[in-house]
Amino acid sequence: MKYTDFSDKKISRLGFGTMRLPMDAQGEIDYEEGKKMVDYALEHGITYFDTAYKYHAGEAEYFCREVLVKRHPRESFFLADKLPTWLCKTPEAVAEKFQEQLDKCGVEYFDFYLLHNVAEGSWQNILDQQMIEYLLTEKEAGRIGHLGLSVHCEPPLLREVLEKYGHALEFVQIQLNYMDWDYIDAKELYYICREFNKPIIIMEPVRGGMLANPMSEKARSILDEAGKEEGFSYADYALGYVDQLEGIAWTLSGMSNLEQMKQNIAFFDGEGLKEKHLEAVAEAAKVLQSDILVPCTSCNYCFECPSEIKISKIFTGYNEAAAKGFHWIWGSLSKTYQKLGPNANDCIECGNCESHCPQNIRIIDMLKKIDLKYKELEEKGE
Ligand code: SF4
Ligand code: SF4
Repeated sequence: MKYTDFSDKKISRLGFGTMRLPMDAQGEIDYEEGKKMVDYALEHGITYFDTAYKYHAGEAEYFCREVLVKRHPRESFFLADKLPTWLCKTPEAVAEKFQEQLDKCGVEYFDFYLLHNVAEGSWQNILDQQMIEYLLTEKEAGRIGHLGLSVHCEPPLLREVLEKYGHALEFVQIQLNYMDWDYIDAKELYYICREFNKPIIIMEPVRGGMLANPMSEKARSILDEAGKEEGFSYADYALGYVDQLEGIAWTLSGMSNLEQMKQNIAFFDGEGLKEKHLEAVAEAAKVLQSDILVPCTSCNYCFECPSEIKISKIFTGYNEAAAKGFHWIWGSLSKTYQKLGPNANDCIECGNCESHCPQNIRIIDMLKKIDLKYKELEEKGE
């Protein structure tokens, strides 16, 4: 295992994220498999465990208490938790939630603590309830080791947050992976963290599992060819890509079974990706973007649809869902799609939209394909 020195702590470059814990046939967290994973993680050098109030509908924190905290010496691991900022509507609620989380995890302090989901819709409330000021008092009292934030925001807000609170917030957790680098704002967020000299924790390196099994045959064969000697898995490429970026402190992987964990740890025990692998990753990313995503620019030249189908909104939503690996912990993707109203089923195939589309998108077929995908997601409960 490789490590990063953070203050006086030695943090494993691979962290165990508890947002996708193993599940049993009844849909409950599989504690037996979870115990094996936590024990294996500690035996093989993982020192960082990440949880949040929201994960597994509040159950992940209990899992940490039962499986990690009660069964292992407190000084043998670092525990990170996150304040559910959206649930704290008063300053008192901030204090109550923080205490509740300590109790749920069965600890007296968190080694790392983050403002969860700092975004355009949550920032004003974070300011109004003086969350950072309160958390600094907890840090002073020794109940928080290091304070940081996790973001799902546009670059200007991250800049604003760090300009104002960079003195208090020691690290930033961002979503980054080889596909998002050029596709969403990941690259910009990364450079802002670098500019403010903040260690970066990576979440979603495998894009919710999507990059562990890329949906493009061509992308898979590019990666297979480059890594056949080393036998790299697709997940290895995803982890290796983020790990080699400068300024990355450590990477979280939401491992769901012992086998995945063994593979992830084996990769972090190895030498990592070389130049030829990184070139293959860049090529695969381009292929994935063109194969999976709809090249819609939201110009809305197709707006005169007799069936009032919100074509560009459906494409944008679909691209965002694909970017998240068709998994979104904050809500149901298929319900969000349904809220958009008329869809492929209402299309009368008049062709008006296609004749106006400057991107030459085969809109009628694409709408059908997307509709099928959302039906599949609905069946899976996503
Ligand atoms: S082909 Fe379908 S989506 Fe396009 S304008 Fe006609 S009804 Fe609307
Ligand atoms: S005309 Fe084409 S590119 Fe423009 S919004 Fe419609 S589908 Fe997207």
